[in-house]
Amino acid sequence: MTNGPMDALYREVVLDHHRHPRGAVALDDYDVQASGKNPSCGDEVTLQMRFDGDRISAVGVLSQGCAISTSSGSMMAELVTGLTLEEASEVAERFRRIMHGGEFPTDVDLGDLEALEGVKKFPVRVKCALLPWVTLLDAVLAGRQGRQPQPISTEDITAHGNTMDVTLEERQ
Ligand code: ZN
Repeated sequence: MTNGPMDALYREVVLDHHRHPRGAVALDDYDVQASGKNPSCGDEVTLQMRFDGDRISAVGVLSQGCAISTSSGSMMAELVTGLTLEEASEVAERFRRIMHGGEFPTDVDLGDLEALEGVKKFPVRVKCALLPWVTLLDAVLAGRQGRQPQPISTEDITAHGNTMDVTLEERQ
């Protein structure tokens, strides 16, 4: 990955998440399960969430794919456990905005996601980084609409809304 989407400073953080992904264990029982894939890279993720009241009490993020997608899913597991779905959606939206060129916020704790900021310079890899987060956002939307989450694809999202931005903003 020399000269790739990860700055040298952050490479070890990303690779640590990739090698030792947090939350990468299937939950015995869960309230929501959603899946997504990123055909342009071959990444796949299955997201499981269990709730305690309105808070996410446990997360399973089962990733297969490149280091950027698996590490992003691992960072997600760390960040969203204990949050409400609304708070988790806010984190997802913040990260999505960063990946589409926004500045890194100072008012929300995005944890190790800072290590993936450099990915935004590589549009093809942005889909890798966003895959688990888009899957989460779609699961939240499905819950609001009272339906089961359908498997999502980063390609479908692009096709339906021209850009991922448009589609996800329509979803709010
Ligand atoms: Zn990937």
